[in-house]
This record gives sequence, C-alpha cells and structure tokens, in this order.
Amino acid sequence: MKPLIGITPCSRVDDYVESIRRAGGEPRVLDNSDDPERALRELDGLVLTGGLDVDPLLYGETPHETTATAPERDQFEIPLSRAAVALDIPLLAICRGVQVLNVASGGTLVQDIPSAIASDLNHSIEVPKDHCAHPVRVERGTQLAKALGSSADLETCPVNSRHHQSVGRVAPGFITAAVSSDGIIEAIERTNASFCVGVQWHPENFWRTGEFSGLFSRFVEAARARVKTG
Ligand code: MN
Repeated sequence: MKPLIGITPCSRVDDYVESIRRAGGEPRVLDNSDDPERALRELDGLVLTGGLDVDPLLYGETPHETTATAPERDQFEIPLSRAAVALDIPLLAICRGVQVLNVASGGTLVQDIPSAIASDLNHSIEVPKDHCAHPVRVERGTQLAKALGSSADLETCPVNSRHHQSVGRVAPGFITAAVSSDGIIEAIERTNASFCVGVQWHPENFWRTGEFSGLFSRFVEAARARVKTG
C-alpha cells in the first residue's frame, strides 16, 4: 500500500503532486477548511507548500511593508504543523512551508531579505522555475545531506530561489541544515524526528530532471515506514 501524503493547497500544486507520485506516495491535496487534527489522522506524511508570507504577529513582530499574508492558510497550517510535529508524522516543508514550520514550532522569520541583509545573491528569481539561482552549503550528517546523497560534492548544492523571507531564529528542537553564502538559512530540520525537513527552495520544480528525487524518496520512505509499524 502506498503511503498517503497530504499536501497543503497552493496555487501551483501540480509539481508537488507529481513529485510525491514519482517517489511512490499517494498524494492528497488538503483543504484549508479541513480540521487539522482530523486531516492528519488519515495521513502517513505531510507536505507544507509554498505561497504567501506567514503573519508576523504569529512570531511577535509587526508586518514589514513588503509582507503579504494568507490568513486562511495560517489558520489551517500552523495547527497542522504543530500536530504533525507532536505526532512525529514525516514532514517535508517547502518555501512558505519551512517558514510555517519554524513559526509554528516557536522560531521567527526574516521578513524581507533585501532590506534586512546586504547580499550579493538574488533570492527572487521567478522564471524559469527550475533555474538554479545560487548554491547552498548542506550541513554534514543531517537528514537533508543523507537524502541528497553522500558524495562529497553534494555538500554544495545548486538550488532555485523564489523567496523574500527566510528562517530567522531557528525554532527550539531544530537545527540549520543548509545555508547560502550570504548567511541566509536555506534549510532546517528537527532532530530526533522520523523525518522533519524544511527547505527554502523549490525541489518540486525538478521532477522532470530528478535533481531532488532523493529528498522526496527519503521522505516517502519515512511515511512508508510509519504505515508498516502502524
Ligand atoms: Mn535562496
């Protein structure tokens, strides 16, 4: 039986669905009006997808002028993330998803990278979706490093980049798993979890060429292990 993977609804959900399918999972796009705990009870794994910004009030800040929020998504995804972490349901968080995960777990965000740090990198390259914008350094020994492969050259990994915010203070229980050369946190993960990884880039845009197939495979494997052990 294929593990059932919930995907939070977003404007470009097809690439997430295809990435999960190719990794051997059964994708199910959720609805913001679902009851978070009830939705989770049926799932073996959860993908938090990309989209607009998390409401800064949720981490104790007033909104920056560039911040654009999605209240109906926050209301569903924050409790969904907390419940998934509490139940140790395998979780892969992408772009807005990693920001939701970090805030839901007690961390903060950088609200606007261009006005917050001096960087020679462009983190907002919209098209083409699979254009590699900058490399990230993947921390050795992390779940992310294991998922991407063990060869030494994967320590530096080119990624796409469509974000103006990033993880600020990493939530308790989480570690930084990847950073870009300007110090922006590009991935976090929860220690002592079956699989709980969040990336700031968009690995789902690469299903045609498979650069990040290992990340989806490892996530779906963790969800499958959960099915087996009940
Ligand atoms: Mn970036």
